[in-house]
Amino acid sequence: MTTAPTARSTTASDALFDRARAVTPGGVNSPVRAFNAVGGTPRFITSAHGAWLTDVDGNEYVDLVCSWGPMLLGHAHPEVVAAVQAAVARGTSYGTPTEGEVTLVEEIVARTPVERLRLVSSGTEATMSAIRLARGFTGRDVVVKFAGCYHGHVDSLLAAAGSGLTTFSIPGTPGVPASSTELTLVLPYNDREAVAAAFAEHGDRIACLITEAAPGNMGVVPPAPGFNQFLAETCRAHGALFISDEVMTGFRVSRSGQWGTDGAVEGWTPDLMTFGKVMGGGLPAAAFGGRADVMHHLAPEGPVYQAGTLSGNPIATAAGLATLRLATDEVYAHLGAVADTLRPAVADAFAAAGVPHVIQSTGSMFSVFLTDRPVTDYAEAQRTDSAAYGAFFHAMLDRGVHLPPSAYEAWFLSAAHDDRAVQAVLDALPDAARAAAAAGGN
Ligand SMILES: *Cc1c(COP(=O)(O)O)cnc(C)c1O
Repeated sequence: MTTAPTARSTTASDALFDRARAVTPGGVNSPVRAFNAVGGTPRFITSAHGAWLTDVDGNEYVDLVCSWGPMLLGHAHPEVVAAVQAAVARGTSYGTPTEGEVTLVEEIVARTPVERLRLVSSGTEATMSAIRLARGFTGRDVVVKFAGCYHGHVDSLLAAAGSGLTTFSIPGTPGVPASSTELTLVLPYNDREAVAAAFAEHGDRIACLITEAAPGNMGVVPPAPGFNQFLAETCRAHGALFISDEVMTGFRVSRSGQWGTDGAVEGWTPDLMTFGKVMGGGLPAAAFGGRADVMHHLAPEGPVYQAGTLSGNPIATAAGLATLRLATDEVYAHLGAVADTLRPAVADAFAAAGVPHVIQSTGSMFSVFLTDRPVTDYAEAQRTDSAAYGAFFHAMLDRGVHLPPSAYEAWFLSAAHDDRAVQAVLDALPDAARAAAAAGGN
């Protein structure tokens, strides 16, 4: 079935983008929103309900971004809205402890292997704090990360690989001094030999290794079977801490995140974990936690300083708690079923249009690489045909489906993606895949 694109005016979004660019760099408050990777004008959204976004021109889109992950239940879920409204009416921030914080932390402790947890306001804060704690706990300075894994905009983690595998890295952006990344080792993902070599050479200086539990920020690149376990064991053998960053995968891939699908089955636990996105239900809440003896080093119990004026904010904790309580086994089963419908449909559309493609996933989180072979690391991910993706993205957008505006991002589903929303995606795919075919080949 073919759908003609409805005439979608973007006049109001265009006007707002002009206003925005006059006062905000690039017109956006986080870079990927700017559409730089796909061209065109970002849609300015006025409201969202369930699986659908409405923009300032009155256009509706099926949302496959879901605020980059948080909206597990869909937009404006009535029970989340009610929890937030009730919380707001009681005041917006106290700077003193509340029961809501305790309950949210208890919910996360019940779902994951962490023994102690500290709430913060963003994923960036969570990873930054976890690394500080790992350094403080071990008395070591070196941090190991993988190319293509994103852990927020922490100076020491905005690092690009140096010239050799076990050489220290260089800043990945201006504004980060070389001194901030000279203690960071950047390795290729899924590469056991590189990890072994780095630990053989620098093991007694390594405070921690941080990895996305299943990378989703270079597109979805799942860990090879046993890779996370290997990382946990390698860290243990060298007295380094294993930090599993579940800001994206936590409470999304399963009720216990990516760990629920590997560590829980294989019988290992990370020393520290970081969470964000889903656990805030669309409000700013994030967390880091793990082994009690490690977390014990955190102020005010221990010497490692960490703090936040709005940490554990009562509105954010209310939204997060309502979201997690509603994130039942049925929700995860639904997300899985929707993903099982969409993945083969996406593959069929690209195959019919003759576009080389690989679909990779962990749980219901998946992404499409427009390339002809599986992607195991960042170098492989970069072989994706970005021009073809840009054409695909815009053809989908014209047909009412809002994909991530970058070829290197996961597609996110929600409990609110019902048959009507799924059908709208299915209807748009064939034409969009043909648009990709026409634009591809760069
Ligand atoms: C989104 C993300 C972060 C950063 O979280 P912010 O809330 O944007 O600071 C960190 N790690 C991973 C894996 C993420 O996906």
